[in-house]
Amino acid sequence: MSQSILQLAISGVQHLQPYKPGKPLSELEREYGIRDSIKLASNENPLGPGERVIEAITRALPELSRYPDGNGFALKSALSEKLQVPAAWITLGNGSNDILELVSRAFLTPETDAVFSEHAFAVYPIVTQAVGARACVAKAHAGGRGPKTGHDLEAMAACVTDRTRIVFVANPNNPTGTWLEHDALKAFVEAIPGHVIVVIDEAYFEYVTEAGYATALHWLEQHPNLLVTRTFSKAYGLAALRVGYGVCQAELAEVLNRVRQPFNVNSLAQVAALAALKDTPHLERSVESNAEGLRQFEAGFTSLGLEYIPSVANFISVNVGPDAAAVYDALLHEGVIVRPIANYGMPEYLRFSVGTAQENRRALDALGKVLS
Ligand SMILES: *Cc1c(COP(=O)(O)O)cnc(C)c1O
Repeated sequence: MSQSILQLAISGVQHLQPYKPGKPLSELEREYGIRDSIKLASNENPLGPGERVIEAITRALPELSRYPDGNGFALKSALSEKLQVPAAWITLGNGSNDILELVSRAFLTPETDAVFSEHAFAVYPIVTQAVGARACVAKAHAGGRGPKTGHDLEAMAACVTDRTRIVFVANPNNPTGTWLEHDALKAFVEAIPGHVIVVIDEAYFEYVTEAGYATALHWLEQHPNLLVTRTFSKAYGLAALRVGYGVCQAELAEVLNRVRQPFNVNSLAQVAALAALKDTPHLERSVESNAEGLRQFEAGFTSLGLEYIPSVANFISVNVGPDAAAVYDALLHEGVIVRPIANYGMPEYLRFSVGTAQENRRALDALGKVLS
């Protein structure tokens, strides 16, 4: 009887690498004995939540002893109106990660596969392995036919077999910031057989202004196997509250609902998301400030002679060479937390989340200092 607890776990879990979050500011300051550090590591909104959110949460505080509305009626109604889809097509999640987990729990088994791209969002392999399913990881673009490091839809389609139950597509993708062109993605969705759930993760949707970009929401009517996920964690600035949603036809939504925890989205998250949805000026300011920040990083990286991956999201990944881990560490000593992405198969890159103009300047100055 010398078996470990780990050996008792299902085999997918035994080999699972837990998600590595960005280093919290408080931890850096405690460990390094420094102050006034900045965190550009988790793609958070540097402007914070809007005032209307703070007011809505404050008003909801006296009701904390009550369970939240398990059906999220008010938030779903508002989303239904905004997105022009029936409320029955919306599933609320404890962050959009929750939706990714619901779909994997409902459709994947050790006998089935999920498909995703190399350098794609780290949660796809986690939710796949956690249920013991097999992953088929499609090679990313090497450049040429599409942006280097971005999803190669042909390679992804080639991974699909009778065993496949889910394909995860991030548009835009994290940590590469690459995106998929409307016509190509639409053709891909049409070519995937009906026994495969196509998950299109639009966590950064609000930031994208490129003419060839479109939301997959437009194709839901034709595809009962399509699921689009969005979040309030990024452009809406509510990462701490954990609220996101999935949109799909009612039959699929009903399946997700079966594995959902009854009160998966707390009441403060619900009122905050509702308020954030109505605060268009705050969203516009956030998107505008982000666009300026991206330009600032592009110019800064260029003047440091560094190659970066053009991004449409609220972060940008830059090649700092084979010593990226040492550069990351040196930046920590300068009080700047960014994200190493070696675990995404990109050991030479660091990912910088876009902060305020001042934070971006400070990060670029620190990078210049560290590299010289
Ligand atoms: C941040 C992110 C999410 C959203 O996470 P939440 O659980 O909604 O906070 C989803 N997909 C990608 C690609 C992300 O980068």
